[in-house]
Amino acid sequence: MTCAEFSRFYSDFRDGNDPALAASMRWHATHCATCAQHARTMLIGSDVAARCAIEHEDTGEHSLSALFATQRIA
Ligand SMILES: [Zn+2]
Repeated sequence: MTCAEFSRFYSDFRDGNDPALAASMRWHATHCATCAQHARTMLIGSDVAARCAIEHEDTGEHSLSALFATQRIA
């Protein structure tokens, strides 16, 4: 797998419907710091989006600062 393929298939990987793709993606991320960082960034981004949706519906409080304080991006 190449870095371009990792990026192209990332959303398919997150869908979780292809075990062979998942294995290949995990192997690549284990051996490629750039794609591992890409995966971490995407995970944080999706977590932020989910929290924003919940906060909007729930209390309206904004805890993005707390999230970034607990999860390192680099
Ligand atoms: Zn890569």
